[in-house]
Amino acid sequence: MSAALIDGKTYATALRQRLRKRVDQLRASHGIVPGLAVVLVGEDPASQVYVRSKSKASLEAGLNSFEHKLPADTTEDELLDLLDQLNADDAVDGILVQLPLPKAIDAGAVIDAIDPDKDVDGFHLINVGLLATGEPGLVPCTPMGCELLLRAGVPSLAGLHAVIIGRSNIVGKPLAQLLLRADCTVTMAHSKTRDLPALCQTADILVAAVGKPEMVRGAWIKPGAIVIDVGINRVVGKDGTMRLVGDVAFAEAVPIAAAITPVPGGVGPMTIACLLENTFTAACRRRDIDPDTI
Ligand code: NAD
Repeated sequence: MSAALIDGKTYATALRQRLRKRVDQLRASHGIVPGLAVVLVGEDPASQVYVRSKSKASLEAGLNSFEHKLPADTTEDELLDLLDQLNADDAVDGILVQLPLPKAIDAGAVIDAIDPDKDVDGFHLINVGLLATGEPGLVPCTPMGCELLLRAGVPSLAGLHAVIIGRSNIVGKPLAQLLLRADCTVTMAHSKTRDLPALCQTADILVAAVGKPEMVRGAWIKPGAIVIDVGINRVVGKDGTMRLVGDVAFAEAVPIAAAITPVPGGVGPMTIACLLENTFTAACRRRDIDPDTI
């Protein structure tokens, strides 16, 4: 057996093309152009790359993009003032503050200062609560992308045992909520979980969101399982060049799993596509338009 490749790049491209048409339709029918404001504090090189690609993707989808680059010594009060302005600005439908923030700034306070209706990262406590209680809110982008990829490959997730390794607020926990909502039986695993390989062998769906290169070995995977690899790890290959690998030992997993996301080209491209989707959703809901009708 050789696992089918879950091609996140192709799926994300299709999602973005479809969104572009919906954005055009929203503009034509209601005169609205959704706007995404991205805030970057400091000069972390990886964050700069992420912010650039988010802004570029927004423009390609037909959204307005507002970039706010602040110096590393920006105070928490200055950042909160900017968020107040963005919350009040009707042209801004989505606000994303790129994490991590400089140590002097309390990220929790910043996230909670974003209007929950514009919180396109889905990190605000209101959106966390809405997701946990099964109410409509804004859902974190990476878990949303994982669910879309799973649903594209598996018609019904009901009753499947999903093991999620990693309990972060941005990936593991919200994905657990989404898969519970999809009627999976969900087990969360983390750094203190005992006998992780044996637990993983019981998973119909195995999600790795840890940040440890190729930690999940082929022998941990149940034959026929669907493997979603969220990890993005930079490693230096034998020839000295840098490459990206996931949290799953991909070559070992391929002969055992039924389907697997590659790294790169799996979950990663879905995250930005879902951010654009969330901005569109926020723009519609803020004006009492049902986004599913567009
Ligand atoms: P995190 O550091 O916040 O959380 C890691 C989790 O892994 C923790 O809950 C911890 O308990 C668990 N863990 C650590 N060591 C473990 C071990 N030995 N066994 C079992 N569990 C262990 O990380 P995060 O922000 O959730 O990100 C996880 C990975 O996903 C990283 O590689 C990150 O780069 C990647 N990521 C990718 C995307 C994307 O768009 N594809 C988005 C977010 C994060």
